[in-house]
Amino acid sequence: MTKETGAKKFFLDIEPDGIEKLIVAAGHDAYRAAQIVTWVYQKQCDDFSTCTNIPADLRTYLSQHYYLRSMTIAGKKMSAIDGTVRYEFKTRDNLSVFAVFLPTRDRRTVCISSQVGCPIQCRFCASGAVKMKRNLTRGEIVEQVLALSKDTGQRITGVLFMGMGEPLLNYNAVVSSVRSLTDFHQFGIGRRHITLSTVGIVPLIRRLAEEQLGVRLALSLHAPDDDVRRTLISERVVPFRIVDILEAGLFYSRKNKTRLTLEYIVFDGVNDDMKTMKSFVDLIARHVHPTDLLQVNLIAYNDTVHDSMHMEGSKTRLRLAPPRRETMEHIKNFLIKRDILAIIREPKGADIEAACGQLGF
Ligand code: SAH
Repeated sequence: MTKETGAKKFFLDIEPDGIEKLIVAAGHDAYRAAQIVTWVYQKQCDDFSTCTNIPADLRTYLSQHYYLRSMTIAGKKMSAIDGTVRYEFKTRDNLSVFAVFLPTRDRRTVCISSQVGCPIQCRFCASGAVKMKRNLTRGEIVEQVLALSKDTGQRITGVLFMGMGEPLLNYNAVVSSVRSLTDFHQFGIGRRHITLSTVGIVPLIRRLAEEQLGVRLALSLHAPDDDVRRTLISERVVPFRIVDILEAGLFYSRKNKTRLTLEYIVFDGVNDDMKTMKSFVDLIARHVHPTDLLQVNLIAYNDTVHDSMHMEGSKTRLRLAPPRRETMEHIKNFLIKRDILAIIREPKGADIEAACGQLGF
């Protein structure tokens, strides 16, 4: 790699549509832009000097003005249970960002972060314990996919925006990165294999629906009634009602013709009783049309250090605890009997702090 100067820019932060302009401004033919996009995103090249069909002077120009990787892998833990790998990156300003490689029999999915820390601070999630530092840039978001692909030697076939951060609060960078991930000339990952998960920022879900990205949306609902949800997610930070979040999600899935996922973390004694489940079914029945595609993902609460920290000083508050295994099955069957597609999402990489809600330390 050529020596970096302070004035260099991060190439992945440039919208691919804008590459042509800078190539032409540098005195080169416009068609070179498409070749460069192929090198950078399809062939995942990390050094301009290896782009053999690009003229030498353009390669030199690019190397002098841009760098292709901004983060370094600072830590890597492999699960002994299921092949999950948890990565810790360091950004150029020395902040920690986490991503997880989740291989299954027929897919290689990555779970990536959209922010450093998270401003939402859900009581049950370790990412909320990390002070919100800043948004990731579009380049840093796609770079996580490139880095995991290179390190594992595998082509990535699915992406979950379920790492650190609330993707909709980093709207422009997330939308731009999704466009790159789905673009046939860039990552070319199938739209249905990309899922964006949100705590439920209603106006931004509606705005996202209009972008026509066609990727799947998941709503972190966790409860059918607002009182219970308030004990888990601060109403001050997320002042939206469950019905409005659900309606916005359905608007998204109808516009994009995708299946909507409702995520439901099951906590022992908090939201796992049959009365609560019955009102969850009623909520779905009231809002979901027969033509809507809907799926409920049941997630057993993964214990985090975060909640214990929250508990200090509030002795009266109910401690969050994982549900019993039978409860998960029971809830799943209860939903399926009422014609609601429900699956239990098995924790991945729980032994290496890579499962849902464990990214943060
Ligand atoms: N901010 C986004 C995406 C990140 S979280 C969101 O809120 O959806 C991805 C999923 O993991 C969410 O459904 C989240 O609620 C869930 N999660 C967080 N902490 C968890 C924990 N301790 N146990 C199980 N699931 C958790």
